[in-house]
Amino acid sequence: MFKGTNASAGIGIGKAAVIKEVEMVIRPDKVASVETEVQRFRGALADTVAQTTVLRDDLATKVGEKEAEIMNGHLMLLADPMLTGEIEEAIKRDSICSEYAIETTCTTYADMFASMDDELMQQRATDMRDIKTRMQQVLQGIKPVDIASLPEGSVIVAKDLTPSMTAGINPANVTGIVTELGGKTSHSAILARALEIPAVVAVSNVLDHIKDGDSIVLDGSEGVVIVNPTDIETEVYAAKRNAFLQEKKELERYIGMPTMTKDGEHIELVANIGNPDDVAKVLQYDGEGVGLFRTEFLFMDRNSMPTEEEQFEAYKKVAVGLSGKPVIIRTLDIGGDKEIPYMGLAKDENPFLGYRAIRLCLDRKEDIYRPQLRALLRASHFGQIKIMIPMITCLEEIREAKALIEEIKGELDAEGIAYNKDIQVGIMVETAAASLMADVFAKEVDFFSIGTNDLTQYTMSVDRGNEKISYLYSTFNPAVLRSIRNIITCGREAGIMVGMCGEAASDPMMIPLLLAFGLNEFSMSASAILKSRKMITEYSREELQAVADKAMSFTTAKEVEDYMKEFINQ
Ligand code: PEP
Ligand code: MG
Repeated sequence: MFKGTNASAGIGIGKAAVIKEVEMVIRPDKVASVETEVQRFRGALADTVAQTTVLRDDLATKVGEKEAEIMNGHLMLLADPMLTGEIEEAIKRDSICSEYAIETTCTTYADMFASMDDELMQQRATDMRDIKTRMQQVLQGIKPVDIASLPEGSVIVAKDLTPSMTAGINPANVTGIVTELGGKTSHSAILARALEIPAVVAVSNVLDHIKDGDSIVLDGSEGVVIVNPTDIETEVYAAKRNAFLQEKKELERYIGMPTMTKDGEHIELVANIGNPDDVAKVLQYDGEGVGLFRTEFLFMDRNSMPTEEEQFEAYKKVAVGLSGKPVIIRTLDIGGDKEIPYMGLAKDENPFLGYRAIRLCLDRKEDIYRPQLRALLRASHFGQIKIMIPMITCLEEIREAKALIEEIKGELDAEGIAYNKDIQVGIMVETAAASLMADVFAKEVDFFSIGTNDLTQYTMSVDRGNEKISYLYSTFNPAVLRSIRNIITCGREAGIMVGMCGEAASDPMMIPLLLAFGLNEFSMSASAILKSRKMITEYSREELQAVADKAMSFTTAKEVEDYMKEFINQ
């Protein structure tokens, strides 16, 4: 059995189709005429662009526009005059063949990207290697691996699945994907999820142990791969696969159903999104709105700040896409660990306690906060947008942000620009200070959204990304639970809506407790919505009170978790 990273949920059972790129020998062969060689390179470049355009269009029709964007990234690299110029320069300078000039130039860039400690840059390195190989294949007349015609029941096994390979997959024939490289957020993992093909990535040296035609079982939810399983193992996983598919099918029943507790209280079940294209998934899984739009993604992976106009278009697209359903848009939560090179932020000693989110926005009102708030207010005319401020720790921050919003409203009035005059302004409650001051803050804002990812970090003083101390990072720790209960109680007493957009909102062991505490809104990844709706409709707040009382009587996270596990498995 091999362990890897669970990249796309579900069970895959089938025969290994080991994908090996044809080995190309790239040597620094000298050429007789550099002019002819440059022409040869330009021809190959044009052919690669044409090939990539076809792949992009295929992806757009087969998977979606958003996934096709990956190929647009390749087209951008191929059109980059700096890259192609350097390749031509190398051909001319060293009188070498195009293949070698491409090899050295692209590898230099790929290695540079790969050495940066940033997932996006890692991805760019993969993209660079992908276009390098494809240009060389075109030059050598090698046909790319034909993944499109794999037989039914194939499990693709490869070192890494380049986006261009993934684009050719016929989901009817491919039951699983296993790769040696990649991560949860690599493009191939994203595509596997979009195609709903189970996938396990980052399985070290798996190619040394799998031959073409071997039987394979993989569990994309657990990150497990078994090569040539026993009959019993195959049976166990076949049953798991049926259960997975059955659950998926059953959950479809909940599409279009109201999210109502057994005692008749409506709960808002909404989605977390990172960009306007995610609206499609929200609608697919019948989300009742958006509880958290992390706008920082609009600012990432680019070379300059998105303008007010660009932001306006993005926010408007989400508001219109959700046709009047609530859309909570969080203002920029950046800084510290989330770096944006063009913003010129100095490295913080303690990024999570540093210059970030609202602190940074209030310090850079003119170039950052004002354009974002203006874009949000303008977009509020087109749907039910609410503004949410992250990382609040003190009252002054709330007042200063609200004053700026009022100031901008005045500007828009003077300019005759339409916006929702009653736009709601709320805060993320995700710091220990905000939790302790929740009764005071509740009187100043229209809603709360509890960010348990940070609330747990700041309550337990445990870095949320540090594996070594992750045993301390539990939302079930009584300290965190008391904090959550207090925030909900304060919000309810003040008569404002209290939601939650941290990961805990979709945790099956947490949902009964949150219902008992009186949470009004649950915001989560779109794919978790139907499962949560099913759960919520099975409980009444009333009957959960005793469960919550019991859970809150425990003094360690372990006791609470054990108790809740037992409760939901009953
Ligand atoms: C949170 O902190 O719980 C949250 C939802 O925000 P983020 O994960 O973006 O910090
Ligand atoms: Mg947070």
